Amino acid sequence: KNGVVIVGTGHAGVQAAASLREEGYDGPVILLGDEKDLPYHKPPLSKTFIKDTEAKPQPLRGETFYSGHNIDLRPGLRIDRIDAGARALDVAGGGTIPFDRLILATGSRPRLLPLPGSDLAGVISLRSLDDARIIRELSANASDAVILGGGFIGLEIAATLSAGGRKVTVVEAADRVLGRAVAPVIAAHVHERLIAGGVRILTGTTVARLEGENGHVSAAVTSTGERLAAQLVIVGIGVVPNSELAETAGIATGNGIRIDNRMRTSLPEVLAVGDVANYRHWATETDVRLESVQNATDQAKLAARTILGREEAYSAVPWFWSDIGDMKLQMVGLTTAGDRHIVSGDPAENKLSVYHFCGDRLIAIESINRPADHMLGRKMLGAGFSPTTEQVQAGPDALKAALA
Ligand code: FAD
Repeated sequence: KNGVVIVGTGHAGVQAAASLREEGYDGPVILLGDEKDLPYHKPPLSKTFIKDTEAKPQPLRGETFYSGHNIDLRPGLRIDRIDAGARALDVAGGGTIPFDRLILATGSRPRLLPLPGSDLAGVISLRSLDDARIIRELSANASDAVILGGGFIGLEIAATLSAGGRKVTVVEAADRVLGRAVAPVIAAHVHERLIAGGVRILTGTTVARLEGENGHVSAAVTSTGERLAAQLVIVGIGVVPNSELAETAGIATGNGIRIDNRMRTSLPEVLAVGDVANYRHWATETDVRLESVQNATDQAKLAARTILGREEAYSAVPWFWSDIGDMKLQMVGLTTAGDRHIVSGDPAENKLSVYHFCGDRLIAIESINRPADHMLGRKMLGAGFSPTTEQVQAGPDALKAALA
């Protein structure tokens, strides 16, 4: 028996291994990935790790967890190819690993920006602990940083470096920050508050080229011709799924690896979970590829149950958080189908929620520093409950009572 092999030691891969054991799977479990570190939490990298020279990585599970659960953890291994016919993986540098079932949890990687000067030292994206270590080192000697991209990660890094005393400029091509992800009122609040805290934000602007001195970046020149001093340039313009392994093995892909509602790919013995997986969402009936810890964790749990023969369809409510300076953003549900929204709270107090509806149906809530709204939102969406406008405006206590 070759058991289950999991490729990727991120949030999804580690959860899949743990869930297989929790669900009672007693065959071999091999968990492998190309990073050398003990599997760790990614979210703190952009929020705390890069500014605190004393900060340690936060392991997803303790060192003894893996051996204690008979999980064969193999860090530092890169897989080059899936031999679907032979049910085996080719390891980079030689060797093969056979499997009965395969879980692809290969995640995503930063989108690269083809820009003159992007190969200069001091130009980097943040995805892994290794990247974070480099950024922490670089920022110790940097007084000015330029962030390309005003998405969640870009703004988190901007707030973190700014709090650490760096002069930070965010350059965003769209006409507002967080454009793809949140309601305009939330984006505007985040923008204003970052500016008030000393971060400079240029929207509707791109970087035309990077300039260097002695091989190290020294400035970013914008599309408007402005020259921004920068000893550190962080590229945060989104990610692309690591779906090449699947694609070359003939597994169906398209903005990620296509999976059904049981996490199965087009090859029955191969499953995929996490950032790399693209699926028809049960609530919106659109194809989505979500990039969140919740998505990675819940999909991994279901993949383990599928392998154990439990016939369950995926129905987890999606949620996400992001800490941008003193703003805790929390999102639950998917806003894509929304046709009206209600705003509650007070931006002046840095507390604000947006309830999104499709007709009378609640579909998502986005909040800043209103954790009660978020937690209630998870309950309401999980129960399929939609509050009235009056109930939303009356606040969390009224909502709690209505839900009970
Ligand atoms: P990953 O964590 O990317 O893991 C995939 C692993 O597979 C990687 O180690 C990769 O190197 C490895 N791999 C890929 N190909 C191969 C191969 N061929 N052979 C071997 N190994 C391979 N989400 C939130 O919900 N809230 C947050 O606040 C938040 N903050 C974030 C901050 C940062 C800086 C980053 C980078 C992400 C953040 N996210 C956040 C997103 C979240 O971390 C991801 O959604 C999550 O990591 C996805 O898990 P995953 O296991 O699918 O992929």
